[in-house]
Amino acid sequence: MLNPDKHWTDYAICRGADPELFYPINYTVPVMAEQVEAAKAICGNCPVKAECLDWALRAGEPDGIWGGTTPEERRYIRREMRRGERTGRIVAA
Ligand code: SF4
Repeated sequence: MLNPDKHWTDYAICRGADPELFYPINYTVPVMAEQVEAAKAICGNCPVKAECLDWALRAGEPDGIWGGTTPEERRYIRREMRRGERTGRIVAA
């Protein structure tokens, strides 16, 4: 259980991890894809994954892996959320 007196970033398990994993230069090259998968594996065990993704979506974070998503995945989620707002359809991130 998270302490409400702390910020969600205090629980981020990527603290101290190699930043290059979370900020690969090119997401389309196979080597970079391996880095993305490695970062996503870390996110998969993070207790604040939902908070992290929520922050990145609201901030429009254009780079890096946040909440287990790539920038392209977040653009897709934001597009689906906007579409959901227009149509009244509920979209879960
Ligand atoms: S979800 Fe991933 S990027 Fe976000 S705080 Fe956790 S480990 Fe770091």
